[in-house]
Amino acid sequence: MKILENIKLDQFTSFKIGGVARYFVELSSKEDLEKFLEWKQKVNLPIFVLGGGTNILADDFRGIILKPKFEHIERIEETKLVVGSGVLVSDLLNKVIEFSLKGLEWAGGLPGTVGGAIEGGVGCFGGEFKNLVFKVKTLNLENGNIENFKKEECMFEYRNSIFRKERKWLIIEATLEFVSYPFKDELKEIAQEKINYRKEKHPLEYPNAGSIFKNIPFEKAPKVVQNLALEKNKVKNDPFKLIPIGFLIAEAGLVGKRIGDAQVSQKHANFIVNLGKASFSDVYNLIEYIKKTIEDKFSISPELEIQIIKC
Ligand SMILES: Cc1cc2nc3c(=O)[nH]c(=O)nc-3n(C[C@H](O)[C@H](O)[C@H](O)COP(=O)(O)OP(=O)(O)OC[C@H]3O[C@@H](n4cnc5c(N)ncnc54)[C@H](O)[C@@H]3O)c2cc1C
Repeated sequence: MKILENIKLDQFTSFKIGGVARYFVELSSKEDLEKFLEWKQKVNLPIFVLGGGTNILADDFRGIILKPKFEHIERIEETKLVVGSGVLVSDLLNKVIEFSLKGLEWAGGLPGTVGGAIEGGVGCFGGEFKNLVFKVKTLNLENGNIENFKKEECMFEYRNSIFRKERKWLIIEATLEFVSYPFKDELKEIAQEKINYRKEKHPLEYPNAGSIFKNIPFEKAPKVVQNLALEKNKVKNDPFKLIPIGFLIAEAGLVGKRIGDAQVSQKHANFIVNLGKASFSDVYNLIEYIKKTIEDKFSISPELEIQIIKC
């Protein structure tokens, strides 16, 4: 177990923004988990589990940042893999293509770790990570028990899961199930198409944290907003009928809106980019400004997709 103190978090987030964490603890083995449980009793501070930091806005954190470094990929059956939570989704994708397994190619270019993908119920291009999940092994950070979850017990929802709702488990590893598929090149091609699409549509030239807000379920939008989205052909079905919040942010005239070095991206209105020296407050205040504008203009309260580290 590696325990670091007073660590700047900007180096661990894709936004390149972050305050100081009192403790930063890396865990990579069963022994580490045991040592950690003992040590945490003594310090008794709040805990935040950090994956790849690709959906995070971080301020100072007077607690413990836990960084899982479980990075194993084991093929236990023809189509089943046990994958450590610290494995990057991009590395897993390369591996499953090498194994000629289908099911993750939609995730070409998706940043972050397997732990983050499960906790956040992530998805794109009609694919959802939850569809691969067979079982999830966790450490309950409250009682120290190892607890296993079957897929249905994970309570996956759109960008949500039991792990996000209750925040008391560290995901250690997951058993994922794929489908055998003989045409590797086809899988490679699909993944590459997604990577190319992201390069074109996402502001990857600046540090960012992906989508700031969740899209709006069509049924939950006021009639006038539904009609506007239908009229402009902006309703999408991914993973169900949604109005992209980026469309509403653009309709509200907020593209390019800037506070300090934080700016609503010119390329994708649901992304905020760090133009260089953006601070936590720059981004936070810009988020609040967008929220208020969307509420006033469309009578919708956008829900945050990114997670905030602060205390
Ligand atoms: C350019 C860009 C494009 C993106 N595109 C998409 C997209 O198309 N679709 C999409 O859904 N997301 C997208 N994202 C958001 C992000 O990539 C995903 O949410 C990703 O799965 C987060 O994983 P992470 O490991 O970086 O988690 P982090 O950002 O570090 O954390 C996110 C959440 O997961 C929790 N978490 C992480 N690891 C664990 C663990 N082992 N145990 C328990 N909890 C854990 C954290 O506590 C936190 O609540 C994008 C982000 C960027 C920067």
